[in-house]
Amino acid sequence: MSPTDHPQGDDVPTTVKAYAATSATEPLTPFEVERRDVGPKDVRIDIKFAGICHSDIHTARSEWGPATYPVVVGHEIAGTVAEVGSEVTKFSVGDRVGVGCMVDSCGECKNCLAGDEQFCVEGNVGTYNSVGKDGEPTHGGYSQAIVVTEGFVCSIPEGIDLDVAAPLLCAGITTYSPLKQWGAGPGKKVAVIGLGGLGHMAVKLAHAMGAEVTVLSQSLKKQEDGLRLGADHYYATSDPDTFQALRGQFDLIVNTVSAMLDFDAYLSLLDVRGAMVNVGLPEEPLSLRMFSVVVGNKSFAGSNIGGIAQTQEMLDFCAEHGIGSEVEVIAADKVNEAYERVLASDVRYRFVIDIATL
Ligand code: NAP
Ligand code: ZN
Repeated sequence: MSPTDHPQGDDVPTTVKAYAATSATEPLTPFEVERRDVGPKDVRIDIKFAGICHSDIHTARSEWGPATYPVVVGHEIAGTVAEVGSEVTKFSVGDRVGVGCMVDSCGECKNCLAGDEQFCVEGNVGTYNSVGKDGEPTHGGYSQAIVVTEGFVCSIPEGIDLDVAAPLLCAGITTYSPLKQWGAGPGKKVAVIGLGGLGHMAVKLAHAMGAEVTVLSQSLKKQEDGLRLGADHYYATSDPDTFQALRGQFDLIVNTVSAMLDFDAYLSLLDVRGAMVNVGLPEEPLSLRMFSVVVGNKSFAGSNIGGIAQTQEMLDFCAEHGIGSEVEVIAADKVNEAYERVLASDVRYRFVIDIATL
């Protein structure tokens, strides 16, 4: 049965095709996942595209702690509404929609009420490798369909194609949120470390917000792309002269790197009262000289995705500014190859799975 011919009102869960990780060391393989029947507040989405975030790899390989296998990862989901529950008010069948890293939360705690569902005091329900309110494990976007409560579904504005929209649901919001929080805009010098999935979105968004943007990449290989995407300057961090030339320059540094860095060296690039905000999540703990932040009253901060309302705000901002992700669309059976290329920093700039190939 295809995900679309599921009869409305039938309460039998529907099985859809997916790709799953079955252990930390095996390649992802074809899998079938059961989706719950559409409840009164639920939206059933036919997934068209799913982005490959580095977090999918961290999770599939149990790099952040043991994952629960099998797990279908993917939290950059774009598709169309196939069915809505009787109490759904925001969406109709056929609407273009997206789902990011969360699919539920308590909805009542102070953080949920403030629009910070990612910090729900009871813990948000992750799109994958989590447990839903029905007690079942959650499975993400490398699959044909998903059922999500409408409060965790965003509208994808007309004008953004679904393939380039998918990565906005994680890479987009994860970079938009700290850029907003730390005031990226005209007159601000913003550096972005790492020109990967998150990094290239940070460049596009910071540029659209009016900031002066510098890319700090390992090499100059992607310089032409970086400048085309909106960077004003581009430096190789493998060149020690870079750290001399840029000393004390930046108001804000957004670190998108998935590996450990010499944080003292990067903090020396901040102006007085500047902030380095980390979104990259390497598995190991870090070491830091306190002098690197104390001298200059600098901030060393982190940022975790963004709430649902802010995700919608980001999507609307992207539509207004003609921003999508730069994507390489791949067939589902190329996902393991794509993982290796992401790990080798050989991604320009987000792999997106064409779900029709599942
Ligand atoms: P990605 O596409 O692999 O990009 C990471 C980039 O970092 C690479 O393209 C590379 O850029 C640079 N890099 C990689 N290894 C490096 C090394 N050893 N030294 C210096 N630079 C290195 O990954 P992504 O999907 O953007 O995700 C980045 C990180 O953010 C991951 O850890 C992911 O889990 C995390 N993340 C966090 C959140 C959050 O809410 N905070 C949300 C999503 C993802 P260059 O080639 O330009 O140097
Ligand atoms: Zn992600």
